[in-house]
Amino acid sequence: MSGEKKKKMIKTIKIDVDNCNGCRACEAICSAFHATPKYSSNNPARSRIRVVRDPLKDVFVPVFAGEYTAAECMARDKYVIDGRQYDECAFCRASCPSRDLFKEPDSGLPLKCDLCEDLEDPSLEEPLCVQWCLSDALTYEEREEEVEEEEEPLDELEIGLESLADRYGLEKIMDTLARMSESKKG
Ligand code: SF4
Ligand code: SF4
Repeated sequence: MSGEKKKKMIKTIKIDVDNCNGCRACEAICSAFHATPKYSSNNPARSRIRVVRDPLKDVFVPVFAGEYTAAECMARDKYVIDGRQYDECAFCRASCPSRDLFKEPDSGLPLKCDLCEDLEDPSLEEPLCVQWCLSDALTYEEREEEVEEEEEPLDELEIGLESLADRYGLEKIMDTLARMSESKKG
C-alpha cells in the first residue's frame, strides 16, 4: 500500500571532525539551555551532545544523543580509524542500559537531541551548539524533501514514560499516576 506523500523539512547538523578542538562549549550551552529554569545551571553530564576526547592523540569527535533503547546491542562495536582505536560504543548515539551516557544524571531518564526546538520560544535560528561552536565543527542545514506520510515520532514525555515503564513496569506507573491524581484531588 503506497502512502500519501508530504513535504518534510529535513534538519541536519553537519559535523566536521577535523575542525573540532574539543573545547566542549557545545556541551556547556546544551546543558544550560535544557536546565530548569533555562540557563540556571551548566552540567555537561546533562548535555545532549558529548565530545569523545583524547587530547594526547588529538582526537575530538562530537556525538549527538539519539534514540532511547530499552535493550543493549548483542555485541559492542569498536572502531579503528587511521590506526587509532576508539573506546567501545564511542560513536553510538543511543541512550541504552549498558552505560550512563545520554541519561539525566539524577533521574536516569534518557536524553535526546531535540535541535533546541522550543515551542514557547521558536525564535532560535540555529541550534545553540552550532551557534556556540566557534570552530565551525558544527553547521546547521535545512532542506525540503517529499516523503511518505509517517506516524508522528514520540515526544520527550512519551520517551520518558516508556523508559520508566521499562524500568518499573506499566502497572506500577499507572498505579502511581492514579495515586498522585487522587492526592491532588484531595
Ligand atoms: S563547540 Fe565545536 S569545537 Fe568545541 S567541542 Fe563542540 S563541536 Fe568541538
Ligand atoms: S541541537 Fe540543541 S539539543 Fe541538540 S545537542 Fe545541540 S544544543 Fe543540544
